[in-house]
Amino acid sequence: MRIAIVGCGQLSRMMALAGIPLGLEFSFIRDDETQTRDCVQGLGIIENAPAKITETNSYPAEAIANLYQALGEPDCISVEKEQVDITLLQALAIFCPIYPSVDAIKACQHRGAEKQLLTSLAIPTSPYLYNCSAKEAVERLGYPVMAKSCTEGYDGKNQWVIKNADDAIQFDTLQLTDYIIEGFIEFDKEISLVSARSQKGQIAHYSLTDNHHEKGMLIHSISPAVNISDALQAQAQRYMESLLNELDYVGILAIEFFVVGDSLMVNELAPRVHNSGHWTQLGSITCQFENHVRAIAGLSLGSTKQISKTGMFNLIGTERPPFEALTENSKLYWYNKTSKAKRKVGHINFIAANQALLEQQITQLKMRWKANN
Ligand code: AMP
Repeated sequence: MRIAIVGCGQLSRMMALAGIPLGLEFSFIRDDETQTRDCVQGLGIIENAPAKITETNSYPAEAIANLYQALGEPDCISVEKEQVDITLLQALAIFCPIYPSVDAIKACQHRGAEKQLLTSLAIPTSPYLYNCSAKEAVERLGYPVMAKSCTEGYDGKNQWVIKNADDAIQFDTLQLTDYIIEGFIEFDKEISLVSARSQKGQIAHYSLTDNHHEKGMLIHSISPAVNISDALQAQAQRYMESLLNELDYVGILAIEFFVVGDSLMVNELAPRVHNSGHWTQLGSITCQFENHVRAIAGLSLGSTKQISKTGMFNLIGTERPPFEALTENSKLYWYNKTSKAKRKVGHINFIAANQALLEQQITQLKMRWKANN
């Protein structure tokens, strides 16, 4: 069985590395010309997707057939990111299933559409306004507010915190289109839930994970999340199941939550394997990458049971693999990417017998990482 993945980054590579031992084969569509080095080097990259016919904004049928053939006639196609060309996926869907479905990817591709989906399922999310001026938004929501591009932002990019009248005036002069402005949430902490759903509708949840961000970027995660009541855990799982079943979802879905007191508010959905689930490579019986490929390949899911308290530390802008940071309880995952400021180039997973030791390792990693940069 062959799986094709749109994208040649680290998530594609980790899906393939988890699926190859199952006897699955992989090929990849490079859809980002700006990538200077492909993480999936040596695993079978097909050059960029064919050009669209500009008048109709669609792909020539023959070119798509050639692309499908060049990919080795895969049995299904998946994605490593939500910002993919939906027209390309729709064109390829003539040949084989796309998992998660094109509709599910579309729903999570646009912050406005995502908010509507959440609201339709009565899942709490921050109050927001679409494409309105900052002046109007602060009149309705009060200061501070947060403006976010609907399709362009990730890792804190294309996001603006508007704290006062000057910020509001400045934001309005940008004259952006397609953005939301949402209420700023004074959350207690950020957690995520990563879950898998199989083609037969079997659902498996990983433990909730604590996520620590700096300037909008995930720096480290700890799982299981601390101080989470059973009720909150059950609530998160109910929201997840509601989304998975509504979308008839196949594969891994991640939900990022704000914890506010004893309630949850969804910040964002990711219809793919997720950075906050990287710890599962070391801390769980079956990692998120394997469960994603098992789900889309039509196999049963593997156990998501956690085998140890686990941490994950992102390597951002690091020049070379930091072998010196490895300990006997940690593993390094280097993506083979050209280093650049604010670019994730690898991560370290580590396990510890207790929370204190886990925190100690994070402190040490942070110190080492800062010393190397
Ligand atoms: P996002 O790209 O939406 O995940 O946002 C990146 C980070 O910005 C989040 O992980 C939060 O730390 C912060 N953030 C996003 N939206 C809000 C909000 N409405 N209120 C407060 N902080 C936010």
